[in-house]
Amino acid sequence: MGNGSILFNPIHNCTIFEIKNKMLNVPFLTLSSSCYSHNDLALRLRIHYNNQLSKINLTHLTRVATDISRLRAGHVQTQMFAVYVLCGAQHMDAVRLTLEQIDVIRRICTEYPDFELVTSTQELRDSMTKGKIACLISIEGGHSIDSSLPALRMFYQLGVRSMSLTHSCNTPWYSKEHAVVDEMNRLGMIVDLSHTSFETASAVLNHSKAPVIFSHSSSYMICNNPRNVPDWLLQELVRKPAWLIMVNFYSPFISCQKKATVSHLADHFDYIKGFIGAKSIGIGGDFDGGTSFPVGLEDVSKYPVIVQELLKRNWTEEDLADVLRNNFLRVFEEVEKVRIPLYTVYTIISHNRINLFCSQKFNSPPSLCLTLISKLKSKACVSFCPMLECICMSLPITTVLAGYE
Ligand SMILES: [Zn+2]
Repeated sequence: MGNGSILFNPIHNCTIFEIKNKMLNVPFLTLSSSCYSHNDLALRLRIHYNNQLSKINLTHLTRVATDISRLRAGHVQTQMFAVYVLCGAQHMDAVRLTLEQIDVIRRICTEYPDFELVTSTQELRDSMTKGKIACLISIEGGHSIDSSLPALRMFYQLGVRSMSLTHSCNTPWYSKEHAVVDEMNRLGMIVDLSHTSFETASAVLNHSKAPVIFSHSSSYMICNNPRNVPDWLLQELVRKPAWLIMVNFYSPFISCQKKATVSHLADHFDYIKGFIGAKSIGIGGDFDGGTSFPVGLEDVSKYPVIVQELLKRNWTEEDLADVLRNNFLRVFEEVEKVRIPLYTVYTIISHNRINLFCSQKFNSPPSLCLTLISKLKSKACVSFCPMLECICMSLPITTVLAGYE
């Protein structure tokens, strides 16, 4: 996957270097396989249109930086759409609002034939061959789960494949983020560290069993905004081969001023590449999250402009193939690989089965079985034992209980 062939466009039959030549005269780029990690269109749909999709046409939409025609013009093949609800909803209606934002993304991604909702790397690859724009759903801010791992699991079932641990508010579980990260690893949900404090990001970098991303953050060395990533964290990141920083385009994070140029943005790419290499970089974007983007890069149709700038700066075809697609796919695939073994070692054992086992094996009275169940909570069973069942390591029940014989 590292030879750049993924940038080959089967429709227009040209490679990126042929495009480079064409770009001398034509500012048009055919990158039909590019993945972009962060887009806040759903937030804008709520703010401007109250999520009333019947009243708008997403092919051409004003007041936003993202619509289908501009995604097509920008040759966006995969877009991760963010679900963001205000921190003010924490402890109130955050879960409901999160569900409503997931709903609006699912509707646009299933009702418009240009889009396809995807939940795995296989589906993502398949959507490319169909000429669709693949939609991934991410949650921005751990307050959305309202301290509930069951809510997290249900969001996964609805198609969410990434979540940033925080936004601009602490969560009640901030000191227990390892439990949430463990569950995200187990589910196969990408852990996103954009918006977390540097200390939390470092702790999670060293804890997570699966690759993590900064979905929309740039270099703190170039612009010392706390939303960017300092060199010492980048150094921790690069020790993990598959992990990723996906560069944010928002002007104040790029130039540390209200306005920025494409050159400012390219400086972040150049710096991070020089520091940790192109294999750790992706494209963050953040369109429709902020309001000020570099001149000439104001909406999603302009993505090729940054590619053109990096080509001018002698980035290779392989570098760009990695940054535009391969790196993100690799992270997602690694996250899926971690999920599978973790997912299969869990099983649900009903209390009835435990009771039956107790009575047959030990001829135990029910009270002893209850004691065993409570011991299972703290030992062999990795999760809670609610009313009727324990979630335990997927071992034969005799093995699970062996320690208690
Ligand atoms: Zn953000």
